[in-house]
Amino acid sequence: MSTHVVIVGNGIAGMEAALGIRAREPSWPITIVSEESDHFFSRTALMWVHSGQLDHRGIEPYERDLYARKNFTRVRARAVGVDTERELLQLTGNQDALSYDRLIIACGSAPRRGPWPGSDLRGVGHFITLQDLEWFEKEVYGAAVRERPPRADAHLASTTEDSPYLHRETATAKRNRPLERAVVIGGGLVGIEAVEVLRAAGKQVTFVIREDWYWPMAIDGRESAWIAERMREHGVDVRLGENVEAMLGDDDGNVRAVKTDAGEIPTDAVVVAVGVIPNTGWLTGSDIEIDERGGVVVDDSLTTSAANVFAAGDCASVRWHDGTQRPEQLWYTGREQGRVAAAVALGDDARYARGTWFNSAKLMDIEYTTVGQVESDSDRRADWFFEERGEVRSTTRIATKDGRVVGFNLLGRRWDHEVLIGFIEGGLTLAQALDRLHEASFDTEFVPPLVIPNKARNARSAPDGESA
Ligand SMILES: Cc1cc2nc3c(=O)[nH]c(=O)nc-3n(C[C@H](O)[C@H](O)[C@H](O)COP(=O)(O)OP(=O)(O)OC[C@H]3O[C@@H](n4cnc5c(N)ncnc54)[C@H](O)[C@@H]3O)c2cc1C
Repeated sequence: MSTHVVIVGNGIAGMEAALGIRAREPSWPITIVSEESDHFFSRTALMWVHSGQLDHRGIEPYERDLYARKNFTRVRARAVGVDTERELLQLTGNQDALSYDRLIIACGSAPRRGPWPGSDLRGVGHFITLQDLEWFEKEVYGAAVRERPPRADAHLASTTEDSPYLHRETATAKRNRPLERAVVIGGGLVGIEAVEVLRAAGKQVTFVIREDWYWPMAIDGRESAWIAERMREHGVDVRLGENVEAMLGDDDGNVRAVKTDAGEIPTDAVVVAVGVIPNTGWLTGSDIEIDERGGVVVDDSLTTSAANVFAAGDCASVRWHDGTQRPEQLWYTGREQGRVAAAVALGDDARYARGTWFNSAKLMDIEYTTVGQVESDSDRRADWFFEERGEVRSTTRIATKDGRVVGFNLLGRRWDHEVLIGFIEGGLTLAQALDRLHEASFDTEFVPPLVIPNKARNARSAPDGESA
C-alpha cells in the first residue's frame, strides 16, 4: 500500500527526510511544502550571497531538477494548521488541504523580533530567511547601486503578515539615497555575519551588544576581548554592555537612530540579530504539543504528541545530552534529525541521540572551533588557557572536570573537531590532551604549528574565569 508523506519545509531537515524516504521507498508519494523558496538552499551561506561571492544558485546543494528526478511533489504555500484527527495539513489561499499518512514538520526558525518600541519601522530587519537576505541586500546596495536579477522563487502571494518570509520595503528606497551606516544588535554568529557583510560593502557599522562580551554562552571574556579588538581593527564601532531602549523613526516611518542607555546612534538601517525562535506559530490551536520555547515536543524517535506526525530540525524540541528538552538550532543536528525522522516514518526503530556538541565558524577573520562543554554556566571545574602571540595569533581553552577534558574552545587556528571529540569521549586528562593536540591540527600547509611552552603547559587549570 502506498503511503503519502507530507513534509513541511525544504531546509536541511525536510530535504534529508525526503531523500531518506525516497532511498527506501521509490513509489511512496512525497509532497514537500515550502513557503520560503522553491529550492533547498544552504542557510548558513546567506552571507556569501550578500557579499557577492556566490550567486543564489551557488548555495543550492542540489541541481534544480532534484524534485523531478526524485519524484517529489512541490507545493509552494504556507501551512496554517494540522487536523490530526482527519490527517490533513491546511494551507493558505485557495489551496486544498493535503491529506497525509505521515507528516514531518521541519519548519525551521523565525527571527526573534526586537522587543523595543519602533522595531517595526522601515529599515529594521533580520538576516535569517531568504526574504531577509533580499531586504538586506536591497537596503545595503539599493537597486541603483547593484541590480540583481529578480528571483523567480522570491514571491509568494499567499504569505501572511506574521510570516518570517514576508517581503518588506526598504528604507533605502524610500529615502532615495544609498545606505551609509547601519547598526547590528546582538552578538551571536548571525550578528557577526551581518557586521561582516556590511563592512564588506564599505558601510559604517555599529555593533551593539547588551552583555560585556560576545556570546557569553560560548566565548569567555579573554576570547571576546580579542574578537572585539579585531572587529575594531576592521573599522567596526563595537559597543559592549550597551542596552537598546528604542528605535527612532523619521516622519516617513524610516528608522533614523537606535536609542540605547548610552545615547542615540544615528543609522540608516538596523539588523536585529537577537536569536531565533521555532517557526511554529502556525501550529497554535492544533493538538500537537509545543513547549514554552515554541519547539514541537518530540520523543527520542522524533515522534510528536500526535500519531503519524514527526518533527525535525530547528523547530523540534529534542532531548539534550544533559537531559533537558529544547530545540537545537544547528545545521548538522538538523541533518541528522531529518535522517532519523525519515527512518521512523518508514517504520524503523530509530532514535535520535545527541552526540558531543561541536561547531565551527569564522568570526570576521578569526577561525573558531568549539567542542564539548565550554559554556560559562556549565558545572565544569576549571579552564586551562593559552594565548599565542607569534606569527599566528590564537587562543586555546581546554575545560576539564574531575581531571578529564570536557571541552575545547579554540580561536585563530583550524582544528578537526572529530579528533577533539575523540579526546573527550576517550576521557583524556589535560596533560594527555596537550600532548596529542597536534593530531587535531587542521591548519593549511604554510601555517607554523602551535607550540605551547612547558611553563604554560604545566600551569594548573584555573577555576572559572582565571587565566592559566
Ligand atoms: C545567517 C545564518 C548563519 C548560520 N550559520 C550556521 C553555522 O555556521 N553552523 C550551524 O550549525 N548553523 C548555522 N545556522 C543555523 C542553520 O542554518 C539552521 O539550524 C538550519 O538551516 C535549520 O534547518 P531546518 O531544516 O530545521 O529549517 P530551515 O532551513 O529554517 O527551513 C525551514 C523550512 O520550512 C518552511 N516553512 C516554515 N514554515 C512554513 C509554513 N508555515 N508553511 C510552509 N513552509 C514553511 C520554509 O519554507 C523552509 O523551507 C545559521 C543560520 C543563519 C540564518
